Amino acid sequence: MATVNLAPPLPASVPRPAYTNEPFVDFSQPENKRRMQDALAVVQSQLGREYDIIIGGKHLKTKEKIVSVNPARPAQAIGVHQRASAEHVEDAMHAAQTAFASWSRVPVKQRAELLFRVASLIRERSFEFCAWLTVEVGKNWGEADADVGETIDFLEFYGREALRLDEAKTPIQFPGERNQLRYIPLGVGAVIPPWNFPFAIMAGMTAASIVCGNVVILKPSVDAPTIAAKFMELLEEAGLPDGVVNFCPGEGPEFGSEVVAHPQTRFIAFTGSKAVGLEIHERAAKTQPGQIFIKRTILEMGGKDSIIVEADCDLDAAVEGVAVSAFGFNGQKCSACSRAIVAESIYDLFCDRLQERVAKIKTGDPAENFYGGPVISDKAYRKALAYIEIGKSEGTVLNGGHAIETPEGGFYIAPTVIADVAPTARIALEEIFGPVLAVIKSQSFDDALAIANNTEYGLTGAIYSNSREKLDRAREEFHVGNLYFNRKCTGAMVGAHPFGGFNMSGTDSKAGGPDYLLLFTQAKSIAEKIGHSTPAQEKQSEQMGM
Ligand code: NAD
Repeated sequence: MATVNLAPPLPASVPRPAYTNEPFVDFSQPENKRRMQDALAVVQSQLGREYDIIIGGKHLKTKEKIVSVNPARPAQAIGVHQRASAEHVEDAMHAAQTAFASWSRVPVKQRAELLFRVASLIRERSFEFCAWLTVEVGKNWGEADADVGETIDFLEFYGREALRLDEAKTPIQFPGERNQLRYIPLGVGAVIPPWNFPFAIMAGMTAASIVCGNVVILKPSVDAPTIAAKFMELLEEAGLPDGVVNFCPGEGPEFGSEVVAHPQTRFIAFTGSKAVGLEIHERAAKTQPGQIFIKRTILEMGGKDSIIVEADCDLDAAVEGVAVSAFGFNGQKCSACSRAIVAESIYDLFCDRLQERVAKIKTGDPAENFYGGPVISDKAYRKALAYIEIGKSEGTVLNGGHAIETPEGGFYIAPTVIADVAPTARIALEEIFGPVLAVIKSQSFDDALAIANNTEYGLTGAIYSNSREKLDRAREEFHVGNLYFNRKCTGAMVGAHPFGGFNMSGTDSKAGGPDYLLLFTQAKSIAEKIGHSTPAQEKQSEQMGM
């Protein structure tokens, strides 16, 4: 049986503390500011380092490289990565299968301990990870800290969840039998994360997989492979056996799709766009020669999220909630508000107040902790600008509507608010994934709900209202996976707000929730006859016909 090299476990007499969310760092404290600046200096000294593919513990290089760059200064290389391609799939699968034979039998307690150990390593170096997120994807300090905190939360939460699942019991014990329900691993999983929560989502999907006894081929986003390479270093440091996680940076269509198609890939944990999620869904559904199972897909996809603002709300709170939901991390969250649906009677006032609030957002290098930063890439920059042009013909520009040029050539776009947008306009329906907000007027609360539900997505949504009746109706009729009342629609907390959406936003999975780990397991029911059954018991079980 495989063993893992872990820090000594807590003595049995010391119960693991109950799960709580990692506290946020207060960067207004001089000490925290200094620690973040020191971490940025440390990271600066490591920029441009080369990272390897790691398959079965072996470090590999390729001729072709992936270079991740700082979106605030695209000439600055953050990490140089190998480029896994179709030829690496078979080796990665072989290494993973080999590791699965032993890792799947490591006691759950040990697997959970490994997650706890990784969480504590991240906690010790949290500022350093924040700094990597700042330079690789352009997160300001608060956003970077939220990503690091969520990473720790996933590790702590899924560790405890795996222990809980291990204690599962059948609802009843059948007379004359010992009945057991065990959640066993699935096998080899492809973990394919996006770039926008490149630490938390990448680590979360990986941790959920391995704590359940699965093994993983991890293909990080080409826009954020360095933070994933740092996570891989942590797993090695914590004692994860070779082959349990195989680190393979590569292009989606070139490498990711090959792993998805492989007949021995048992499941795919994906977070990203609707288009790619649907493609993975289709590819995974096609049975390959030699495949002996139906692949499972856990797909978390895009959003077009709305905040309804009613006339009976606290207007200050609504303006603030819409602004931070729309422009936090430059609108590059699947949960970001990209549609404000505002009641007619307060529409003009709301627009004036929002315009004033958004004008206060200062844009600049996230390393200097500006609130507004760059979008991730040239591709994202062009896409957002193209949508802004469409938006100019679909509404009235209240803020922004243009790029911001800097000497370093960062991918900056001014926070853009476009009002008087029709509910069926393109900028009201299509995911832009940038700092662009459409404001839509509603004629009534019925109208507001109908507009909120008129997209193909169903991820997050919020409503600002002081009417209990309206909130109760929204509870029933606002069809999103994560619904918030009188607060922003971003910032889901692990455990408190299990996260994931309906319709084209994904497969209705709930990351950070009590059902999530079930998706990474299959349940096995075992019945052992004990003693002698009475004739009545025999007859009863025969009648049940199973
Ligand atoms: P993306 O779909 O472009 O890429 C996601 C991942 O898929 C990347 O690792 C990419 O390399 C890989 N990929 C691309 N083509 C592939 C293919 N053909 N086969 C296999 N893998 C492939 O998304 P992105 O730009 O990285 O992330 C932004 C998107 O993610 C947005 O749509 C956002 O809404 C969504 N997102 C959703 C959630 C959620 O929880 N629902 C969370 C974060 C982000």
